[in-house]
Amino acid sequence: MSHALYKLDNVIQNYIWGSQTAITELFGIGNPDHQPQAEIWMGAHPNGCSKIASNGMLLSDLIAQDPVSVLGDYTVERFGELPYLFKVLSADKPLSVQVHPSRSKAIQGYQKENSQGIELAAGNRNYKDANHKPELVYALTFYKAMNGFRPINDIVALFNQANIETLRGEIDALQDRPSAAGLRAFFSVVMNLSGEQKKQALSELHQAIESKAKTSKAREAFALIAEFSHEYADDIGLFSPLMLNVVELEPGEAMFLHAETPHAYVKGTGLEIMANSDNVLRAGLTPKHMDVAELIDNTKFVSVDPTQIKLTPYQMENKIGYPIPVDDFAFEVLKADIEEKAQYVRGAEILFCVEGQVTVRDNHESVTLKAGESVFVCSSAKVYHYQGVGTLARAFN
Ligand SMILES: [Zn+2]
Repeated sequence: MSHALYKLDNVIQNYIWGSQTAITELFGIGNPDHQPQAEIWMGAHPNGCSKIASNGMLLSDLIAQDPVSVLGDYTVERFGELPYLFKVLSADKPLSVQVHPSRSKAIQGYQKENSQGIELAAGNRNYKDANHKPELVYALTFYKAMNGFRPINDIVALFNQANIETLRGEIDALQDRPSAAGLRAFFSVVMNLSGEQKKQALSELHQAIESKAKTSKAREAFALIAEFSHEYADDIGLFSPLMLNVVELEPGEAMFLHAETPHAYVKGTGLEIMANSDNVLRAGLTPKHMDVAELIDNTKFVSVDPTQIKLTPYQMENKIGYPIPVDDFAFEVLKADIEEKAQYVRGAEILFCVEGQVTVRDNHESVTLKAGESVFVCSSAKVYHYQGVGTLARAFN
């Protein structure tokens, strides 16, 4: 195959929580019908497969024609497909609180639901495939999110300050037993609240956020709950800011979302790269299906140190990399300048132009990218060169 560089034509997903303006402002991509432009998908996922811009061919068809040239033999052997999906994600409203299963739990769950005869598209289907879904987010604007359980003493302090009397016994029990088992028991009670008790607990929470917070952690959590309650007044997910770390990435900062770790994206625009999976177990802030027993079975009840959430990048000449603890994908940010730089290729890559204008070439052809544009690089290129004034985000494996 002589061609190895393909400019992409990507699918925009108009999910309800998307921003109507951010993608236009950042990348000049038009939005004449004022749709919520939630995500741009770059990859070969069947729910939104990229096309080759020059001829309209689906990227998945290009891969199917000659998997070894396109993906490389390592990737074909290890994954049998493009192992990642690369996205621009632009949230104007909070996304659901969620947990993604580990690979082994995903395999088990997928087989179990198949044997139970639950259709893949059914509303109560938990496992859409047999894969894990680790994620990395790289902020393009300020990016607010929740990631992992807070230290247990912070959870106790926040519930105490919010004065949730309905949960008094459980809060005291968690204080007496600040362990994984204690956190699991506490989280289970909160997620299973129903009827009068749920109503009472939420009304206490609504009162709490009207009152004056005594610490900056409580102030931040109460403000977030107030914001969520505009969209989800009766949702058990309103308790999540009391239990989960709240983080704000600055542009250029990144974080990793581990399997079995509750998290939610709240607001902002970023790049997201994830394993090729759609397995999501929800834990609130959603009108969609929630399976609390399955969720708890897929959650690791360990606190995440809030100072360890942001990834520490490693700096190389002209690029910045982020350490990722899985082999499904890797992520780097390449700085282009007047002097041409070379980059070796193993598996297939997607380069997304974050800002400026960058020309990417191999020995046969060249593609010039403006901000918001992307190119697919086949494994058969072996090496490419980039040059210009701008920044490329590099998804690869
Ligand atoms: Zn997620």
